[in-house]
Amino acid sequence: MAYTRYRAIVKVMCPVCQSNADAKRKIDTDCRNCRFLRYNNVNRLKKFTRFLHTDFPNWSYFNVYEYVKGEKGRYLGSFQKGKNEPTSDTF
Ligand SMILES: [Zn+2]
Repeated sequence: MAYTRYRAIVKVMCPVCQSNADAKRKIDTDCRNCRFLRYNNVNRLKKFTRFLHTDFPNWSYFNVYEYVKGEKGRYLGSFQKGKNEPTSDTF
């Protein structure tokens, strides 16, 4: 069976924001040094989360959309590191 294809937009915190988060201080949500990564070919949410932990340990959260070529696609949900990480590969 084919997997659903998702688009994910991931916030990766810069070192300053990460240290604020670690110290439970306020985070500048408009910080220009933090990055947003976009992936258009996410098939398995749990596996994708493991990839983030390995390659982008400062990831903070990601929003998931239905993948529709050339469009933003329907918003499906959001996951936060350490709070509500995906428990399965699909919604
Ligand atoms: Zn930042």
